[in-house]
Amino acid sequence: MRFSQLFAPTTKEVPKDALLKSHRFMVQGGFIQQMGSGLYHFLPLGHKVLGKIRALIKEVMDSYNAQECTLGFVVPASLWQESGRFEQYGKELLSFLDRKENPCVLSPTHEEAITQIIKTHIKSYKQLPLNLYQIHTKFRDEIRPRFGLMRAREFVMKDAYSFHANTECLDTEFMRMHAAYSQIFARLGLNFRAVEADSGAIGGSKSQEFVVLAECGEDSVIVCQECAYAANVEIAKRAKRQEPENPPKAHFAKFHTPNTPTIEKLSAFFKVPPYFLMKAVLKKARLSTSARPVVFFLRGDDQLEETKALNAFNRSTQQNALELEEMSAHEIAKLGLPVGYIGAYGLKHLVPDIEVIFDVDLQEADCLICGANEVDQHFVGVDLSSFAHLNYQDIAQTRPQDRCPECQGPLSEQRSIEVGHIFKLGNKYSKSLEARFLDQEGRLQYFEMGCYGIGVTRLMSAILEQYSDEKGCVWSKASAPFEVVVVVANPKDRALEALGTQIYEELKAAKIDVLLDDRPDRFGAKMADFELIGCSYALIIGKQALEGQFELITRQGLGKRVIARESVVQTLVEALA
Ligand code: ATP
Ligand code: MG
Repeated sequence: MRFSQLFAPTTKEVPKDALLKSHRFMVQGGFIQQMGSGLYHFLPLGHKVLGKIRALIKEVMDSYNAQECTLGFVVPASLWQESGRFEQYGKELLSFLDRKENPCVLSPTHEEAITQIIKTHIKSYKQLPLNLYQIHTKFRDEIRPRFGLMRAREFVMKDAYSFHANTECLDTEFMRMHAAYSQIFARLGLNFRAVEADSGAIGGSKSQEFVVLAECGEDSVIVCQECAYAANVEIAKRAKRQEPENPPKAHFAKFHTPNTPTIEKLSAFFKVPPYFLMKAVLKKARLSTSARPVVFFLRGDDQLEETKALNAFNRSTQQNALELEEMSAHEIAKLGLPVGYIGAYGLKHLVPDIEVIFDVDLQEADCLICGANEVDQHFVGVDLSSFAHLNYQDIAQTRPQDRCPECQGPLSEQRSIEVGHIFKLGNKYSKSLEARFLDQEGRLQYFEMGCYGIGVTRLMSAILEQYSDEKGCVWSKASAPFEVVVVVANPKDRALEALGTQIYEELKAAKIDVLLDDRPDRFGAKMADFELIGCSYALIIGKQALEGQFELITRQGLGKRVIARESVVQTLVEALA
């Protein structure tokens, strides 16, 4: 490709809403153009990078025997109604009526559609297992589209779905996809980690996220500094906490504690660390047609982790709440509970339908102080081990000062970008959509399913966040828009122009993805574009080139070296291998 013919509208103007360097440089480098909120065009350079990432993903997926297909983007809403997700998915699901007034959705994910295909064609265990994937458009009406391609509304995902006759086979495929993903992200040059994750609205029993560690990430992961343990904060576990010295030993009694509605005030009143105070967090679990009160008890210095709490509620009640909502002081008072003095004693008498969940760190805990469900009153000397059948669940946030649940080692919390997510779905969708096959004994069984997503366009942002400097895009070798740009310093100089063209042809013949900057522009402007666009290498055809001396600049780090005429092709072939 000749730069003089390339449509790459680069600009010095910084886009106003670009908070991240990846967003800024992709717009300034002429890779993408915003059309609306969370909606982007991919211009030739952006399309080219996307194509390289797609091809790499395809190569690896195909090598794992997954088969590529393309599913319809617009899906009849009836299919989503059948699985129950039409109501459940929330506002990210964009639906509309077609001219015949049939409701349709723009697919945010394709479990329903793929299950319908399998239901139609797979009748016997002999046709299993099967893994189908696509690299295609998704639409999610995100509440806060931002950061360019990182959180768009329309984006490209690689989504794969596997179908199995039993859970062992699903387990094997899950591990194979884990290996495939590790290969994909490693080949893309990413510094990534696989972490335990919550399954969210997609459902299923086990899931793992692949994340890139980066300051700008919207997620947080807890990582052990000594072993391989790593988990999204939404599910990160921790070892049982160490009890502070001098626990407040007391006989069980009610105590007058005037004006102590907060943990700070109560802690100061008794001169007791918050560890020994039992905090109550009240929420409303939102069900399809109603809401149910739920109280979570935690140690005073712990915080409720909302995702864990929601999962704990659903596990305990066998219900399917979508979220936990705040409860106002007024609503709490209406239940007959005194804000700031809520405790576990007699709670079920006061509010019969309340669900009560204790954090697992309180299991067997004694020397506790908790509210007495009366204003200005607390109980001291509370011993939870004397109660049978309390519902203990892991509901607290894991903090960096906690210890690793696997090895007791120190933990750290790091910001991360989710680039992939693999799930064991089990038979959630095969059941709701009645998709069955005949097993070896001739019995009808529901398919076991797995699903495996990669944010293909988000990967472009993640790569740039990891590598870019203040001058512009730095891509990994596998993703750079061109491997080499041959910069003719002064194309008016016929000899330089001819030499540049000759080397350009030689590099092309060596299967190097090369751009020839033959534009009649200033050398400085060409170098600025090299830095902004981020080809992996720039080969400078300047005055010394006529004497056989070529300057080679590596985009990552901007290091320079001089190479001789006869080793130009060989050096670049080796550098790019
Ligand atoms: P997030 O928590 O970031 O919203 P998710 O859990 O909803 O992601 P999945 O449903 O697992 O995402 O989708 C698979 C992959 O698609 C994600 O790992 C992510 O890389 C990508 N992805 C999800 N939402 C977006 C988006 N709005 N823009 C770009 N990529 C996205
Ligand atoms: Mg999401």
